[in-house]
Formats: sequence, structure tokens, C-alpha cells
Amino acid sequence: MATMYKNVYFDGKIVDADKAKLSVASSAVLYGLSVYTVFPVHINGDGEKLAFRLQDHYKRLVNSSKIIGINTFVEKWDYASFLDVVKELLASNDVEDDIYVRATVHVDEQIAGTKVRGLKHTLSMFIYDAVPILSPEGCRLKTSLWRRIPDNSIPSRAKVNGAYVNSVLAKQDALDSGYDDCIFLDVQGHVCELSAANIFVVRHGKLITPSNASDLLEGINRNTVIMLAKDMGLEVEERTVDLTELYVADEVFACGTSANISPVLEIDGRTIGSGEVGELTSKIQEEHMQSRHSTNDCHPEWLVSL
Ligand code: PMP
Repeated sequence: MATMYKNVYFDGKIVDADKAKLSVASSAVLYGLSVYTVFPVHINGDGEKLAFRLQDHYKRLVNSSKIIGINTFVEKWDYASFLDVVKELLASNDVEDDIYVRATVHVDEQIAGTKVRGLKHTLSMFIYDAVPILSPEGCRLKTSLWRRIPDNSIPSRAKVNGAYVNSVLAKQDALDSGYDDCIFLDVQGHVCELSAANIFVVRHGKLITPSNASDLLEGINRNTVIMLAKDMGLEVEERTVDLTELYVADEVFACGTSANISPVLEIDGRTIGSGEVGELTSKIQEEHMQSRHSTNDCHPEWLVSL
């Protein structure tokens, strides 16, 4: 389990983590009515703190709020004030190693019932150490017996806390069966994503990934991988993906803020490709890490110095 840093931003100020508390009667607690994002901050050799694609994370938080109807957040916050909070939080903690920041918009009106529009919200942000959820050396996946919630029920492109019960069920099912994570299928049986990461398939030298209309979270690292692959001259297809395409793929990998790039070596008891980390996966893994750490200079606009 990751370790949380002591100082937290909660309801307009930096407080001790013990003091950052929501009411048991808030909509966030009663209905899971919060939206969030998690972004990485890398500390380079000069001690500079570099946040990866922060503006995109902020935009996704705004879009999640918009979809769910947390209009008070959309109206009150802009990127500049959000960035100020990130800087304040980082400055208030003694951060020496790479970390993750979790920023959440909680609807904290009390006993408001099952509605959202116009209700009071609170922004919280906390820091924890960057322990990846999947190994960079490889992982084993199991197709989930739970289906991904469809866009017309709880939209996956909104990163809403309550919807993560779906991920918890699927991840636990995979863990109970001795696997590292799950593969979510949609109600028609097509591939969506993992419990908290997107998925890519390599076949005949080409990258294939479920399209953004496949009941998945529009992952920032998914988009990063697509851009890096195109920079490398690779063809990328975003489309509907069948589960059996994964079984016969040359390579499969997962990607996300907390997953980084994790090679998928086995799915449902079937070895993927050679069973070793594939050549393209390895290249993408390296480019991805370098772009997060500003060592390849290919997309300097992705990093924000804090
Ligand atoms: N899908 C889900 C369900 C997730 O929770 C995450 C992690 N945020 C991702 C995909 C990957 O998204 P990102 O690359 O933005 O971290």
C-alpha cells in the first residue's frame, strides 16, 4: 500500500491529513458523488518538480464534472487557480521522490438527496508515493466476469468515484483467481480496458486499441502512447477490439498513470506472444518513461515545472 504525505489541501487550505474529513451525510459519502484525477510528479536530478500533462488532467476533471453535473466546480475553478493549489500542496510537503497527486471534487452538501446541480463542492488534493499498480516486468490478466458499465448508465469517460465499485469488483475477481488485474468487456463482449488502465495490442507491427467509444476512460497515457507511437512512425488503429485478438496478439500492454506501461504476458491462461516482454512494448515503455522525465525532449509541452 502506498504512503500518504502529511499535508493535504482541503476546502481552501492546507491542513493535516487527519483534519481533511467529509461528513457522513455528504453526497460524496452517501452516493460516491465525487470526480477525480491522479497525475504524476517527477523530481529530476536538479530537484525540479515536473508534473506530467497537468492541464489535460485538469481538463478531464472539468469534463467529468460537466458530465455528472457538478456545475459549481466548472464555474468556480480555472486552470491557473488549480495550478496554484498544486504548487501550494507540493511546497507544504517535503517531497524528495516521485509522487502521485490525487485531486478530487467532492459534492459535500448534506442530505441533499439524489441530485447534483447547484450543490456545494469541496476540492481536495493529497500526495502519495509513486508505487506502480502493475509491474514494469509484466502482468497476468483475467477477463472479468463483471461487464464494464455502459456509457448510457455511468459514463466511463467521467472519472466518478462511485463508478469505481465496478473496477473493485473486477479487480478483486482477478486477484481471487490468482491474476494481477482484469480485462473489462462491454455488454456486447468487446474489450474496454483494465480496472484502472487502458490496453494496447500489437499485431503485425501495428498498435491497436479500443476506441474512445468503447466504454473506457479516455486515459491521458493512452493518448500519450498514441502520440509517441505516431512519432515513432507506427500505425495506430482505434477501433472495436475482440477478446480473441488479444489471445493471438504478438504483444499486449497496459498503460496508465499508476500502471505506467506494463507488458501483458498472459491472459486467461494463454501465453501472449513469446511470453516475454515484446520489442515494441519495450520501446514504448522507454519513450513513455523518458517523456515523463523530460529526458527525450520530444514533447516538452507535456511537463509543467512546479
Ligand atoms: N482506465 C481507468 C478505469 C482508470 O482508472 C485509469 C487511471 N486513471 C486509466 C484507464 C488510465 O488513465 P490515465 O492514463 O489518465 O491515468
